[in-house]
Amino acid sequence: MEIPQSDTPTPSKRLDDLPGYGKGRAAGSAIFSHSLGSNEAPDAVDPAIMAAVSAALSGDNRYPDLRGETLSSALALRHALSAEHIAVAAGSIVLLDQIMRGWCDPGDAVLIPWRSYEAYPIIAGLSGASLVTVPLDAEHRLDRASLLAAIDAHTRIVVICNPNNPTGTALDADEIDALIADIPSRVLIVLDEAYCDYSGSAAQVAASPSERLALHPNVVILRTFSKAWGLAGLRIGYAIAAPSIIATIHAIQPPFPIPGIVLAAAIAALDLEPAVTARIASNAIERERLIEGITAQGLPIAASQANFVWLPLCDDAASLNNHFARSGIATRCFPGEGLRITTGTPADTDAVLNAVARWRPNC
Ligand SMILES: *Cc1c(COP(=O)(O)O)cnc(C)c1O
Repeated sequence: MEIPQSDTPTPSKRLDDLPGYGKGRAAGSAIFSHSLGSNEAPDAVDPAIMAAVSAALSGDNRYPDLRGETLSSALALRHALSAEHIAVAAGSIVLLDQIMRGWCDPGDAVLIPWRSYEAYPIIAGLSGASLVTVPLDAEHRLDRASLLAAIDAHTRIVVICNPNNPTGTALDADEIDALIADIPSRVLIVLDEAYCDYSGSAAQVAASPSERLALHPNVVILRTFSKAWGLAGLRIGYAIAAPSIIATIHAIQPPFPIPGIVLAAAIAALDLEPAVTARIASNAIERERLIEGITAQGLPIAASQANFVWLPLCDDAASLNNHFARSGIATRCFPGEGLRITTGTPADTDAVLNAVARWRPNC
């Protein structure tokens, strides 16, 4: 049966100009031998995590934790904070949506350095806030002066993605703290650290939230199990912030934010830190091979502290993306701007470098 589309009720005007998620995502990724478009970890889920999921499944006639408390407590231990500092959800992107809806009223502005994560403008638009972007600097890094200059009485939230997706560039801890100190304390700062594991020592990655919150109570730190923790398909993210901020997120959030089997998987993953360390070490090696090989072919590439590299190719981005697709390699294209390539296995790197050597712009 055909449902007549013209007769369906019109949604909110807030949706009119939304860019839509995943536009640059390669369609039908099953046909690609090398999935380098979504910054996932290349290795399969650890058997210990599968065993934890399977054990938890037998209890799934019951609802899971109301707020994911078992996971919040385990994360609190990891970050040397109390559990009231942590909210969990099915992806850090869900938490960002809850935060923007919870803190923004019509007339408020969300300020974002740009280019950054493509989900930000969509989530800001849905919240009813207006979006203000400031360009990155010539090295594709956050431009401190232009960000600070763009803050005005309407600014409600500043989102800082560090390391930044899709450029991979990062500010170090001192630069971040100095920047935050210069932003008025009435502004909520969301620090999206999806890729932080790749840019600092493990001890620092675990300790930095409590250190930063002690200095700046207006910060919410977002972390995820989707990248270095290797569990993108299970959808687990968390926010670390002052207890009053976490209480507001809990007030907005529907109950049972994470399924019981996924809570079990995340808690099991926290005991497998050596696997994360190995992933980070292998990422550093493959990232360096990509940077050296691509630079040797004369192509531009930004300094990356993440598990991907950014080629600011402007009008040639689509051509290289198509060339990769014909070689069985999925990458993420931002037409007219650049191309993002996830670091994968040594074989993935070989395939990328072979394809790059065979590519000529505009052919
Ligand atoms: C991948 C990514 C995330 C992770 O989102 P989840 O919903 O936790 O999978 C968050 N922020 C950025 C910038 C990302 O690239």
